[in-house]
Amino acid sequence: MAEYYNEFPSLLFFIWIGGVLVSFSMGSFYSTLAYRILRFYYGKERKIGSKLFRLKKILIEPSACESCGTKIKGAAIIPVFGYWISKKECSNCKAPINPLYSLAEAVFGLLFVVSFLFSGKLLGSFTFVALCGHLLIAASTDFKKFSLDYENLPFILLFGTLANYLLFDSVPGKTELIVYVSFSAVFFLVYFIFPTGMGFADAIFAPAFAFLCTHPWWIFFLNSSYGIAIIVTVLKRKKGETLRQVPIPMGVYFSIGLALTFLARMFSNSGLLPNWADLIL
Ligand SMILES: [Zn+2]
Repeated sequence: MAEYYNEFPSLLFFIWIGGVLVSFSMGSFYSTLAYRILRFYYGKERKIGSKLFRLKKILIEPSACESCGTKIKGAAIIPVFGYWISKKECSNCKAPINPLYSLAEAVFGLLFVVSFLFSGKLLGSFTFVALCGHLLIAASTDFKKFSLDYENLPFILLFGTLANYLLFDSVPGKTELIVYVSFSAVFFLVYFIFPTGMGFADAIFAPAFAFLCTHPWWIFFLNSSYGIAIIVTVLKRKKGETLRQVPIPMGVYFSIGLALTFLARMFSNSGLLPNWADLIL
């Protein structure tokens, strides 16, 4: 494939540009989805209509202003740049547009760039971006409501397994099953001994995430998740508050840890550095 790219450098250029644009759109889809899941499944509107009605609203309704509900039209709907094109406000009610969407879309583009740069695998990189989209949903419901969506877990497992196959030629085996079972045992034990220390959903999600990280990368996953959680919690702590009093949305950090582990595995495989997995063992 590499020789093919060398003969047609312009083809590679279009693949890069196209890949980034597709990832921007995926970022737009997933950040809107995360917002709507919070609104229709956790907010006041969770009681409106049937399940199917709300599912339709979540998946296929065009983007609209959060204040007045006017449909976003024309160039303003373009991912990342629409925010600037619409001059950061709704054309109808002039309510300011939340810059987080534009930022999230840009981050998805960046995730694609880093993934494609390290792995050189186009389909694998798109799968990784989709996995990050579902991680964004998990992180945002946990951040806002301290709740992880169980409906989201099959998608994380699906895209995570696919990304493992496409990026690393890795299919889960006996070792991964042992990682999963051991993780579940430890997390459920902790959950039953200190039910206030950890959520039930964490005990379901974390072992599944460790399973996707594969052996021995689950060590990297565990260290990065808890490492970032501790650093952020200590930095955000108010004066006089002990760490025990601060509820920590671990789902957010597990999601970040899983994405980081995949990136580290790609980086390690790219040959830019000695294989970190060899260093751990
Ligand atoms: Zn408006």
